Amino acid sequence: MPEGPEIRRAADKLQKAIVGAPLRAVEFAFARLKTYEEELAASRVSAIETRGKALLTHFANGLSVYSHNQLYGRWYVVKAGKLANTSRSLRFAVRGSTHDILLYSASDIDVLDEVGIATHAFLHKLGPDVLSATLTAGELDARLAEPRLARRRLADLLLDQAFVAGIGNYLRSEILFDAGLLPTRRPGSLDALERAALARSILTITRRAYRLAGITNDPQRAVQLKTAGVSFGQRRHAVFERAGKPCYRCSGTVETAQLNRRVFWCPGCQG
Ligand SMILES: [Zn+2]
Repeated sequence: MPEGPEIRRAADKLQKAIVGAPLRAVEFAFARLKTYEEELAASRVSAIETRGKALLTHFANGLSVYSHNQLYGRWYVVKAGKLANTSRSLRFAVRGSTHDILLYSASDIDVLDEVGIATHAFLHKLGPDVLSATLTAGELDARLAEPRLARRRLADLLLDQAFVAGIGNYLRSEILFDAGLLPTRRPGSLDALERAALARSILTITRRAYRLAGITNDPQRAVQLKTAGVSFGQRRHAVFERAGKPCYRCSGTVETAQLNRRVFWCPGCQG
């Protein structure tokens, strides 16, 4: 299941292929959206925005195409006029001068204007996007201090897209490891230093995963492990999916439990 960094990296590829290009066509598989095809094709894509796991294809005429991939949706970038090598069904296509961007299998697609975006049932509920360039540690710190969140378990809160959008299961374990906090802690039990550390780790680890294509481990350590011949799967994360293995930092044994989904932690570093 892709998380914020994977979605943003996919969006970067779409953006590079289509933003600013004159369009040959825009196509929807759903009859209810066909009425927009001509108008959108006469415009250009101005930006591709991600909000958690949702994607907004913004057009210069003020309309945007909302899409959420759920479990099955998948984007492809192909040379103009080519089909993607897949047996999935095409749901949304933007055909540009050199490349086409094609969305297959997704069923959650809509055309929205500015008001439609502001009032959209899913987007409306989302917290700030974790990869937004304007999100600060101070803002996250303030959110963590909100009394209504004081009793939420951190393991649950970090997966709650209304708190911050774009954190999924691997990021949750890795953020808590970086912050040195057990998954069972609650915001109300954190002192100011712990809360600030968590706010910083949310940004640091997610941005690192975006920059390094999914690596959340200490970047220097990841390079050393690679040199030592350790597989990508084992050098990628500090604790996620490393249950029973020695912690890279303290050599203690990484533990795991089912808290909402499977969470991993090091008792030595997070105790
Ligand atoms: Zn440790």
